[in-house]
Amino acid sequence: MTPQALIRETTALFQAAGIPDPAWDSALLLAHLTGKPALNLRLDMDTQLDEALLTRFYALRDQRLQRVPLQYLLHQQSFMGHDFYVDSRVLIPRPETELLTELAIAEMQHRRTALDLCCGSGCIGISLALAVPGADIHSADLSPDALAVTRRNAETLGAQITLHQGDLFAAVEGLRFDLIISNPPYIPTEDCRSLQAEVMQEPGMALDGGADGYDFYRRIAQEAPAHLNANGVVLLEVGFDQAEGVAALLRQAGFQETCIHQDLQGIPHM
Ligand code: GLN
Repeated sequence: MTPQALIRETTALFQAAGIPDPAWDSALLLAHLTGKPALNLRLDMDTQLDEALLTRFYALRDQRLQRVPLQYLLHQQSFMGHDFYVDSRVLIPRPETELLTELAIAEMQHRRTALDLCCGSGCIGISLALAVPGADIHSADLSPDALAVTRRNAETLGAQITLHQGDLFAAVEGLRFDLIISNPPYIPTEDCRSLQAEVMQEPGMALDGGADGYDFYRRIAQEAPAHLNANGVVLLEVGFDQAEGVAALLRQAGFQETCIHQDLQGIPHM
């Protein structure tokens, strides 16, 4: 079997299974195993792939056919220009979260300490630490499994951050920060049952924001003031229809100024 034939066969199988980018995923899976560029493989009609490699490829292909996200199979997602290790213990970092991180980098030019709540893969806090040398960055998550992934990414990428395990602010009792940032779970519980097949394989606890999706925002709005230094700021990613609701929660909790930023798809975030 040549790379081109294998990619063609796999593309047809992926397409029949309803996988969104069948040709792309086929080529990337093979690129992952061979270390060769995906484009070259798609054109390669000469090389004969050996049995051992085919066996490994078929095992990954079967998982992808079960709609395991490609990123979990490749153990990789790029975020803010860095390669993050990911597996099914953490949410796969999303491009819109890069925008949130960029806002945080700008805010940190004149601040020193930051807390990344619900850190998951660690993508926000680690990117912040790498972009703002000298900043004191703390990352917290309820899940010890997620923290293990954050630790691994921090080590691999050479970021100095402090990790905390616990339920939101319980993880950082008595500590105050200049900036608190979070991309918390915000999908209403009911909607978690009808997500894209790949998203359903991401950790439920990273997605489920309670009955109306606002559980974490309510708690963050209530508890953040006790963990902020004077002139502190909170940056939150929100779902596509949640910006006004979250702004209202923050104002009720005493935040004087709230500001909604649009993401690249024109979706308001805070
Ligand atoms: N902070 C991580 C991210 O943005 C994880 C978020 C989460 O688990 N809800 O990707």
